[in-house]
Amino acid sequence: MIAEVIIQSNAKDLNRVFDYKIPTEYEENALELIGARVLVSFARRKELEEGYIVNIKESTEYEVKEIAKIEEKYLNNEKIELANWMSKRYFCNIADCLKLMLPPGSTRKVSNRVKEKSVNFVTLKKDEDEIEFDIETGKLKSAKQIRILKFLLENGDALISDIEMFADGSRAIVNTLCKNGYTEIIEKKVERDPFEFKEVERTTKLTLTDEQENAFNAICDSMDDMLFSEFLLYGVTGSGKTEVYLQLIEKALNEHKSSILLVPEISLTPQTVNRFIARFGKENIAVLHSKLSIGERYDEWNKINEGRAKIVIGARSAIFAPVKDLGLIIIDEEHDSSYKSEMTPKYDAKEVARFMCKEANVPLLLGSATPDIDTFYRAKNEEIMLLELKNRANNASLPDIEIIDLREELAKGNKSMISTRLYGEIQKNLNAKKQTILYLNRRGFSTFVMCRNCGYTVKCKNCNINLTYHSNTNKLKCHYCGYEEKLVTKCPSCGSEQIRYFGTGTQKLEYEINKLFPNASTIRMDIDTVSKKNSHEQILEKFKNDNIDILIGTQMVVKGHHFPNVTLVGVIAADGSLNIDDFRANERTFQILTQVAGRAGRGEDKGRVIIQTYNPDNFSIECAKKQDYNLFYNTEISLRKQLKYPPFCDIILIGFTSVIEQEVVKVAGKIHEYLKNRVLKENLGIILYKALPSPIDKIKNKYRWRILIKCKFGEEITDLINDVLEEFQKTKSKSTKITIDLNPNNMM
Ligand code: ADP
Ligand code: ZN
Ligand code: ZN
Repeated sequence: MIAEVIIQSNAKDLNRVFDYKIPTEYEENALELIGARVLVSFARRKELEEGYIVNIKESTEYEVKEIAKIEEKYLNNEKIELANWMSKRYFCNIADCLKLMLPPGSTRKVSNRVKEKSVNFVTLKKDEDEIEFDIETGKLKSAKQIRILKFLLENGDALISDIEMFADGSRAIVNTLCKNGYTEIIEKKVERDPFEFKEVERTTKLTLTDEQENAFNAICDSMDDMLFSEFLLYGVTGSGKTEVYLQLIEKALNEHKSSILLVPEISLTPQTVNRFIARFGKENIAVLHSKLSIGERYDEWNKINEGRAKIVIGARSAIFAPVKDLGLIIIDEEHDSSYKSEMTPKYDAKEVARFMCKEANVPLLLGSATPDIDTFYRAKNEEIMLLELKNRANNASLPDIEIIDLREELAKGNKSMISTRLYGEIQKNLNAKKQTILYLNRRGFSTFVMCRNCGYTVKCKNCNINLTYHSNTNKLKCHYCGYEEKLVTKCPSCGSEQIRYFGTGTQKLEYEINKLFPNASTIRMDIDTVSKKNSHEQILEKFKNDNIDILIGTQMVVKGHHFPNVTLVGVIAADGSLNIDDFRANERTFQILTQVAGRAGRGEDKGRVIIQTYNPDNFSIECAKKQDYNLFYNTEISLRKQLKYPPFCDIILIGFTSVIEQEVVKVAGKIHEYLKNRVLKENLGIILYKALPSPIDKIKNKYRWRILIKCKFGEEITDLINDVLEEFQKTKSKSTKITIDLNPNNMM
C-alpha cells in the first residue's frame, strides 16, 4: 500500500504530495493512517522530514521509499478535504492550511514542542496506622516531620512548594521523609486552566421572547433535519442574540454535539466567556485565543480533541478546532474584519465555516447588529435566511445621537479637540457622577511631524509612513514596523527649527482632558496600554469597579462591553475611517459609529452620543445618527452596484513585494502584461487594473506594488491565477514575493 504524503518543511515551494510505501505491519489498517504524522527521508536530506498522510492508494508508478516512522494522528479526512479546498480557494499550500489544524505549538521543532505541564507532588507511602506506630515507638520524633505527615493524611497529595512551607522553605525535610520511606515525590500532569480564578454563579435559560423563539425554532428545525442552511440573526445590541446562541448550544450539547462560537478577538473578554461558563460550567467549554499562553492553548486544544469540551469559543482560528460531531457553528459580530486572515493562508473564517457546515450538514448562524453589506445582500436574495430581532430584550432605549460640525467649531475659534457641546456634556456627566467614554481611532500623541519652513515630514526609515510622536517615551514611533527614533527639534532637510507636531492621538486626548477637567479621573486603553497579558481586562475592570470618570481609547473600547453607568459617549473624529482608500470606508464608519453608540445608556438612564466630524453630510454618519441600518444598506448597495464593487463582483489583489525597487516594478509590469494579453485573447469578462504602487508603498524596507482585478470568482479565474503564479516563477526574480488575496480586507 502507498501513502500520499505532504511534506511539511518543503511547503514553501511544493504544493503536491509524494508517494511512500506503508510499512507492512500497518497495511491492514492503512485507511486509518489518513491524517497521521510521519517521518520520511526526502530528497538527499540527512535528517528525516516531517509530513502528513493525506491519501492511501494501492500502487504507484514511481520507485518509492518506505515511511521511516509513523507518529500521532491529529488530522482526519474532513480536515484534509478542508485543507484541499482552502488551498484552491486561497491559492496557498495545503501544508500551510494543515498547520492551522494541528495542536498549538506542534509546528515547532520536536524538541521545543509544548508538552503537558507536570508538577511535583509529595505523596504518602505509609498509611495512618503505620505512621501512628512509628510515632508511638519513637522512631519518628521530629515535630516538623510529624506535622507534614498529618497534613498529608488529612489533605492528600500536596505540591512540594506547599509542603516546604512547613519547613520554612527548606527542601531538606521533604528529602529526609522520602529517604526514610514515608513519602515520595511524584510527577502529576496538571491542566493549565485559563479560567483558574473564576467562580461564576450558574444561570438558567430565560424564557425567549416571541422574536427570539421564532429565530431559535428556525435554526432548531435545520439542526433536526440535518441539513445545511445559513441564517443571519440581525438585531441591535441588547436584542438578545446571545441568549439565542446559548439555547442553541444547549440543544446541541443535549444531543452530544459540539458547537463552535466565533467572536472577534477583541471582544473575547472574560465578560463574554463568563456568560457561557455561567450557563454550561467551565468543564464543557474550551476557549481559544491569542492571549492564552501556548501551553494553555495546547491544553484547551486537547480538551476539545478528546471530546471533553463540546463548546468551543474563540477568535478566527478556533474554526479549525478539532471538534467531534459538529452540531452548529455560530459567528457573532459577523461583519467584523478580524474573521479574514491577513497572513497566508489568507482565508475567510466565514467561508471556511460555510464549507464545514455544508460538509457536516449542520446550520451556520451569523449574528450582527450591523451586518456585512455582502451578508445582508445575500439575505435579501434569500441565499441566507434572515431572522430579525427588532426590540431590545430588556427594553432599554437606544441613545440620543447628536452630530457636531467641527468646521463650525473651528470657525468659532475653538481649536481644541473637544467641541463646546461635548465639553458641556462631559462636565454634566462629571457633576452627576456618571461615566463617559471617548473614542479616537488613533493612538500616540501627534500623528505627524512637519517642518513649517519646507514642508518636510518625518517618516520611518523602513516604511513610507509618518512617524507618530509618543509622549510617554518621548520618541517617534512607526506603527507598522516598530522603528523608533529620538524627537526631532531641527528639520533634517532645511535645518529650520520650525518643527511642529500635528494631528492627535489618544495620548494627546488624555493630556487635553486632564487639562480641561483636572479633577476627573481618566484611564486610557489602546495597544500601548494593553500589551501585557490581561491588562485589557484589567483596564475595563478598573474603569467599572473604581468608577473612573472617563475612559479614553481606540477601537478596543467599542466592542461588546456592558457598563451600566456609562451615559455619554463622545466620538472625537468620525472622519478617521472615512478617508481611507478602501471601498469599505463607509461601511466601516457606519459600523464603528453604531457600535460606539451602543456603549451608551445600557443601564436605566438614557444614553447620549456626540459625534464630532468634519463631514457631517456623509451618509454613513447620517445613517449612524438615525440608527438606520436599512437606509445605510440601501444607499451603500446602490453605490456598490454603480461602481461595481462586492457583492457585485469579487476583488483579487495580486501583491508584489521586494527589497529591490526595480525588481518589484519589473515583475509587476510583466505580470500585468501577461494578464492583459490573456484577458484580450480569451475575452475574459474581468476588469484588470494597471500595476501600481500600493497606497503604502514601502513597509519594513520592502517596496510594494499591486494589481487589482474585478471578476466573478470561479474556475476560469482559478485557472488564470494559477497560470499567473506559474508565470511569476518564470520571472526568476529571487527577491520578489507574490501574494494573492481574494476579497482583501485591507487594500493598503
Ligand atoms: P445581544 O447579544 O443581542 O447583545 P443579549 O443576549 O446580551 O443581547 O441580551 C441583552 C440583555 O437582555 C441581557 O442582559 C440578557 O440577559 C437580556 N435578555 C436576553 N433575552 C432575554 C429574555 N428572553 N428575557 C429577559 N431578558 C433577556
Ligand atoms: Zn516603519
Ligand atoms: Zn525644513
